[in-house]
Amino acid sequence: MTHDPSQAYETQAVQTAIPRGLGQSVGVPIHAAAGFQFETLEQAQSEFQQNTGLSYARLQNPTVRALEERLNVLEGGAATVALASGQAATLTAMLSVCRAGDHIVSSSSLFGGTAGLLNNILPLMGISATLVPNTPEAVRGAIKDNTRLVWAEIIGNPAGDVPDLGGLAAVAHEAGALLAVDSTWAGAGYLCRPLDHGADIVTHSLTKWAGGHGSVMGGSVTVGSRHDLSRNPIFTEGGEASILNVRGDQALAWRQRWFGAHQLGMTLAPHSAFLIAQGLETLALRLDRECQTALALAQWLQAHPAVGQVSYPGLPDSPWHAQAQKYLRGGAGAVLTFEVEDPARFLGRLGLLRIVPNLGDNRTLVVHPWTTTHGRLPEATRLAAGVSARTIRMSVGLEALADLQADIGQALA
Ligand SMILES: *Cc1c(COP(=O)(O)O)cnc(C)c1O
Repeated sequence: MTHDPSQAYETQAVQTAIPRGLGQSVGVPIHAAAGFQFETLEQAQSEFQQNTGLSYARLQNPTVRALEERLNVLEGGAATVALASGQAATLTAMLSVCRAGDHIVSSSSLFGGTAGLLNNILPLMGISATLVPNTPEAVRGAIKDNTRLVWAEIIGNPAGDVPDLGGLAAVAHEAGALLAVDSTWAGAGYLCRPLDHGADIVTHSLTKWAGGHGSVMGGSVTVGSRHDLSRNPIFTEGGEASILNVRGDQALAWRQRWFGAHQLGMTLAPHSAFLIAQGLETLALRLDRECQTALALAQWLQAHPAVGQVSYPGLPDSPWHAQAQKYLRGGAGAVLTFEVEDPARFLGRLGLLRIVPNLGDNRTLVVHPWTTTHGRLPEATRLAAGVSARTIRMSVGLEALADLQADIGQALA
């Protein structure tokens, strides 16, 4: 199906990957199948050599493919692989360009699970990481000869920081490394398309705003078309048989599917792919409303006498405001944090708002990151990620502003 890059996000979100023609379903069909047919031995043999089509659903499934096509269009990517969770996407992206002896520089303002992979899992494979504040200067200072990847989040969890993507890309590329951006909080290309600002890889937890209804888990890795792999030995060694020589400009995309789906089996189920594809159709509407409500709440909380530090990149006095203006369009996201004197009392008194360690749901969710999402990290790492013992993280949903204010107000009283 052809796609017109001049069309708006909202149009692409509802029109991409819908079949057209007599009797076709108006929606993404669910293919509940583990295997796909060949008509000849030659077809099967060729498919097993190339792995580019449909054979076995661990590798590819038409419903998952439809979601991948839609995500790819929305991110402006060259290729996308959808996987079972955001965590699966993060691991896949990292392993696609790093092996034993290699090094990653990451922003320290990070989703707890990503910090967990960098601190606990990748070292088991001989891959090391340095976590630094997310400025190009700090990242440059941490880069080593064996650095293959720079990692950042837009928008950082939970500090709400908005990194200088262009600056980070320049520093990474100067060192022969790639820039990967976890863009979960920017909502599947809606608030920001990191590839347009120099990133090479974009990952998502589709569990959040893409799914949108708190009903499904998924993740994705999208690669752009301009990356330079010529200084990474994984891709260049082996002469004629090198990955770069054999796979050409598909090399990076091929590694994502090969690791995440084919080899590690972190495959997205077709029913989940359907729910996420459907969620994407209303993402723009939902995020527009949530960004408006989040800004209004952040301003209201700032003026509330029982509330300490409020952090939201849409606030004019946020240290991230200028970069949010530069890199985010249409709003500064649906998440804010604020400090309260007694988090246990505050959370215990809430009636409408729910305590849930999730984001991007239609319902407003709150959590105490210090004891939950970031609780397993060393104290210094938590503080570096913008989490104090008094911080409440709120993912703003679709409820009316007045109802949210009423519930928060009575819990603060
Ligand atoms: C939730 C989240 C993840 C992990 O995604 P899962 O779907 O929970 O595995 C990664 N990055 C960010 C920014 C997230 O919010």
